[in-house]
Amino acid sequence: MKNDVYEWIEAPAGDFAVIGSPIHHSLSPRMHQAAFDALGLKASYHAIHVPVGQVSEALDHLSILGYRGVNVTVPHKEAAFEWARSHSDIAADLRVCNTLELGSGKGHNTDVIGIQTCLSHLGVSQGKVLVLGAGGSAKAAVYAMGRSGLEVGLWNRTMSRAEELASSLGESVYLLPEPYLGGFDLVINTTSVSLSSESLPLDWSQAKPGLVVFDLAYAEGLTPLLEDAVSHGHRMLDGRRMLMEQGAAAFEIWWGQPAPRDAMIEAIS
Ligand code: NDP
Repeated sequence: MKNDVYEWIEAPAGDFAVIGSPIHHSLSPRMHQAAFDALGLKASYHAIHVPVGQVSEALDHLSILGYRGVNVTVPHKEAAFEWARSHSDIAADLRVCNTLELGSGKGHNTDVIGIQTCLSHLGVSQGKVLVLGAGGSAKAAVYAMGRSGLEVGLWNRTMSRAEELASSLGESVYLLPEPYLGGFDLVINTTSVSLSSESLPLDWSQAKPGLVVFDLAYAEGLTPLLEDAVSHGHRMLDGRRMLMEQGAAAFEIWWGQPAPRDAMIEAIS
């Protein structure tokens, strides 16, 4: 499904939005609109394209247009942190925001709660986790794993970014020069490789039986990485539940009432 996408400078007046680049693929508008409809809330939610380097101007413009809340996706989460005038504790620890309250200028990070809830859903409470990637969502994943007491291995295409991530969080993480699957119970793909319909060069013969593969991305069908995982007999989860859980947490910040999770997951399934 493709959204009606507005360039930020041409955005209509509205209530809520998701900003990113690219943004046409996002399921957030469909999911949040379903939540508003389920509860009879009169509000709009738009997909808005913001190029790199224009986040601050775009958010100021949306505030003037009367927007109350914004979700932030790739690659603007660090810029959203910089724009915010105050931060929740988790956002302050991570220096990354995916949810903003435009009125107060407060930034939040609901990706952490989204990942923690997915771990519970997968029944993963102990063992070794391999995080692939070192961007904004990798930070949230490593932080969430650290708080859940899981042992974390981290691989990123650009090793220096993985080193920066590990030292910025102060979590006990060991770095892998290659995405070696051996010994891990869970693999979380936080790279954006799935957005370009590609997979990662993983050697599946190294994987333990019972490995669980969680791709934060989602696609019309399975992402290429999850197709590989399924073809090697592994259990998997795509990014839709994570999308719903982080979106439900954002909804609750904006509206101060429980999110209609069933309607939200149904809208994106
Ligand atoms: P960032 O832009 O912050 O990070 C991107 C990461 O992907 C970097 O580690 C980058 O590596 C890596 N990468 C990009 N292309 C490739 C490639 N071809 N091969 C290997 N590594 C690559 O993105 P985010 O962390 O914000 O988001 C990443 C993904 O997670 C996206 O697909 C996003 O849609 C998804 N996501 C889903 C959510 C959900 O609710 N379901 C929530 C949050 C994120 P390098 O440092 O080398 O450039």
